[in-house]
Amino acid sequence: MIVAGIEAGGTKFVCSVGSGPDDLRAETRFPTTTPGETIDRAIAFFSEQEAIHGQLEAIGVASFGPVDLHQHSPTFGFITSTPKLNWINTDVLGHLSSSFDVPIGFDTDVNGAALAEGKWGAAQGLNTFIYLTIGTGIGGGALVDGRLLHGLIHPEMGHIPINHNRQRDPFPGNCPYHGDCLEGMAAGSAIEKRWGQKGQELAPDHPAWELEAGYLAQALRSLICVLSPQRIILGGGVMEQAGLLTLVREKTLISLSNYIQHPSITDRIDEYIVPPALGNRAGVLGAIALAIQAIS
Ligand code: ZN
Repeated sequence: MIVAGIEAGGTKFVCSVGSGPDDLRAETRFPTTTPGETIDRAIAFFSEQEAIHGQLEAIGVASFGPVDLHQHSPTFGFITSTPKLNWINTDVLGHLSSSFDVPIGFDTDVNGAALAEGKWGAAQGLNTFIYLTIGTGIGGGALVDGRLLHGLIHPEMGHIPINHNRQRDPFPGNCPYHGDCLEGMAAGSAIEKRWGQKGQELAPDHPAWELEAGYLAQALRSLICVLSPQRIILGGGVMEQAGLLTLVREKTLISLSNYIQHPSITDRIDEYIVPPALGNRAGVLGAIALAIQAIS
């Protein structure tokens, strides 16, 4: 079996063909420009790869959003109201299906990453878990009882409210919609704006990290209380900061205050809040996983 995957990001597209982490046969990446030009480059790459490896059985798209995931909607497979203006109302799925007559799986980038971590990575064997990425922005995907969570649209975990003590942290937040929501306070872009330096330039003992871990712990408490995940995977560039994950685990335990009594949390927090096992390949493997899911 060989399938194609597109990790459609706001700044770059990563396209690959293969069938999993041990079988990625080719990959290319290029900047996200206009919708027509960018999707055509993906189509050209897949056509070349088909000539080498044989027919692709499916395509998976793990996309930046917001996206329309409802199969019966007239705009199914569209990127909808994105802040990336020239991509508003882009029919990604239609554009691809006019060139390839195969099943196409389409979902958010974070749902794709969650699916891949469940299939090959840090959440194997679990049916309810969360993948949260803390990068330039914050987004979360979830499997609930074995299915990717969509609901009304799809989860927007980056925009949940958090408790903001303005005396301790006068930074007003930089979400254009909510100001001091989770993303507005704890994404990489918020860290840079608050401290005037990128996160990776701040020392491990900089007060930024206590603050950051506190905000993330609040968010994790909310997510744990709402979705009852069996595990939470924390990815994204901000989480690469040494020591941050440990701090987040400690502060999440404090925030939960022994209310949720389960040994996965009370005894094994190190196995409960974990980094992605697929590392920075979770995105592209998410797209491959969505393609495989589209066949079955
Ligand atoms: Zn927000």
